[in-house]
Amino acid sequence: MVDGQRGPNVLVTGTPGTGKTSTCALLASATRLNHINIGELVQGLELHDGWDDQLQCLVINEDLVIDHLEEKMSAGGNVVDYHGCDFFPERWFDVVVVLQTKTAVLYDRLSNRGYMDQKLQNNIECEIFQVLLEEARESYNKDIILALPSDTIEDMSNNVGLLKEWLRTNAPSYLI
Ligand code: ADP
Ligand code: MN
Repeated sequence: MVDGQRGPNVLVTGTPGTGKTSTCALLASATRLNHINIGELVQGLELHDGWDDQLQCLVINEDLVIDHLEEKMSAGGNVVDYHGCDFFPERWFDVVVVLQTKTAVLYDRLSNRGYMDQKLQNNIECEIFQVLLEEARESYNKDIILALPSDTIEDMSNNVGLLKEWLRTNAPSYLI
């Protein structure tokens, strides 16, 4: 249920390559929700502590990200896109979507993105072991978690439809 004091906030999480950014962009284009891509924000505003050579990614500064977003999230009306979910304040979100993709499909998407070797392997294992679903279950009420398949374009369209249906019930003013 949406907190009476603010608009709805949706978190879309999942292993890299599962379709978070594509799904959030489609949802934002079909509703009044504002897409917040945490990876882009961290890079653009340098909300990080430098580059991790081993993991081949920026080291996010979680406190800076939370401080930067507090006001927007307190107003509501956002769909947040990130491959992690345990450091956000639990109170921020009304729905937590965990996108899931079959191994073979994810392998192709990440290879196309240029991921190789250890980074490719780490992300495939992250998906096989359902790391993000487990992280979501440890961080949020199970009643607000939706694990959704994201193998095909049809899946994406169904997932956006489901979230629009959720808005219709819980925050209809955010529909276009
Ligand atoms: P993420 O943000 O989770 O890393 P992206 O949205 O960038 O994932 O998607 C990675 C690639 O996979 C993109 O080329 C995108 O077009 C494709 N893709 C994502 N989700 C789907 C889907 N449900 N069906 C088909 N292709 C998808
Ligand atoms: Mn993305």
